[in-house]
Amino acid sequence: MRGTARDNVVVLAAAVVLSAALLSWKAEIESKGVTVVVAVAEQDSAGRVVAPEDTPRRELLDPWLANDEFRSQFALMNATMIYQRAPGGDVAFVLLNGARRSSWEGREEALLAHEFGHAWVQAEKYPSPVFVPGPHACIAIHTGDITQHVLIRKELEKRGIDYRRPWLEGLERAIPVMETAAPPPEDDRCARARLAAEWVDVKLGLEPGAWPALPRYEAAVRRYMPEVVSTVERIVEYVRSHDMSDRAQHRQALQAVFEMLKDLVYYRAKEYRAYGTIKQEP
Ligand SMILES: [Zn+2]
Repeated sequence: MRGTARDNVVVLAAAVVLSAALLSWKAEIESKGVTVVVAVAEQDSAGRVVAPEDTPRRELLDPWLANDEFRSQFALMNATMIYQRAPGGDVAFVLLNGARRSSWEGREEALLAHEFGHAWVQAEKYPSPVFVPGPHACIAIHTGDITQHVLIRKELEKRGIDYRRPWLEGLERAIPVMETAAPPPEDDRCARARLAAEWVDVKLGLEPGAWPALPRYEAAVRRYMPEVVSTVERIVEYVRSHDMSDRAQHRQALQAVFEMLKDLVYYRAKEYRAYGTIKQEP
């Protein structure tokens, strides 16, 4: 790894600072044969997403960054992890989105730790949905998030990494928007899957009473996208009654959650049945 040791942090060439907790987690993931590469992906003047010149294994990353479907998803994220199988050893690219710097600066540890979590889940050989470009891409992403976040939350707690405060702060910022904004256009399928996955995390990741803003958050979601309610309830019930740390059950959960999210985005959730006829195209 590049960089200069300075007390307990290492400054990488791309100026991403890793805390001691992150450095030790990175080493553990790498001991499983997976190289972890951390970089800030920036947008260039032509609107392309580019990784710094000196990003290790950049040749494996560039095709992802050039993919339109991936780019449109990445634009909405502060950070992501791309897992690339490769001869000679898999690589987990943990990317911060430079275009959204103002929304993550100062809370890099929680953000990077979350993405390290996704890399760790892969290194531990849990099954994961395959990213397929096209209309199902975002459904696959949110499916994997839902099942993997169960494992990641547990691991972050074990490692003493505070992910809750920045997570809940982000959700709290979204509440006033959902209380007042017009719902996203009906053909924005990914918006429904995204919000459903976010709410599932809230329901699975917080004990009753742990978040005072919860009632206001849930009321805001119900107002903003009432059609996600039954899907969220079904997914939560499914995940709660299965053990995500069991690889066979995890694999089944990926299939089940994928189908439930697909039903939601293609208007087959319970909420659509009551007024299905007026939704049909002429
Ligand atoms: Zn995630």
